[in-house]
Amino acid sequence: MPTSVVNITVHGIGPTCRTLDPGEEGTWVRVDQYERVLDAAVGRDDVRITFDDGNASDVEVGLPKLVERGLKAQFFVLAGEFGKPGRVSVDGVRELLAAGMSVGSHGWAHRDWRRITDEQAQEELDDAHRVIGELTGEPVTEVAVPFGSYDRIVLNRLRKAGVRRVYTSDGGRAAVGRWLQPRNSIRHDLDPEWIRNVFDGRTSPKLIARRIAARNVKRLRGAP
Ligand SMILES: [Zn+2]
Repeated sequence: MPTSVVNITVHGIGPTCRTLDPGEEGTWVRVDQYERVLDAAVGRDDVRITFDDGNASDVEVGLPKLVERGLKAQFFVLAGEFGKPGRVSVDGVRELLAAGMSVGSHGWAHRDWRRITDEQAQEELDDAHRVIGELTGEPVTEVAVPFGSYDRIVLNRLRKAGVRRVYTSDGGRAAVGRWLQPRNSIRHDLDPEWIRNVFDGRTSPKLIARRIAARNVKRLRGAP
């Protein structure tokens, strides 16, 4: 068993009929880029693939390419978006589960959890967990934070909601078993060098600088 892992985040793959949110195209990748990541993950027990946002491409492209390679992944879906254009449907979630994939929560409506009211928090956590839990047949204990945006209040809410693992977007390797799991998002400009850097821990000075800047911002607003 490895002591640390590389968590990868996939958002959307290939064409979509959905109008993307501002900046969202930055995390959208071509099919060949996605396949390149999967090929690099084959045979690596220290690489974990996750999906955010519950896009239709999770089931249409993501799933068959995983199955072809004998890989497993975890899908963090948006409970309030099921069946909307370009999003995964309830049947799609069932298909993921039937193929042996795991499903966790990315909340209800893709809100920034640092900026929600108590009522919205109820929808993002309680309601989403209930809807997703009914599909998976077990309580939701793992979530991925929308926009990687969290602070102490968000983490307290997650703890109270019984969450046992929180996936962020902080980058770098993750210690196995830790409550907070940093992940690395694949982006539209993904290339073989990025895969080498992230998978094998060789980090470019540019990436280190970006990570330190992001952590300092989080520290200022009170996250651990
Ligand atoms: Zn998201």
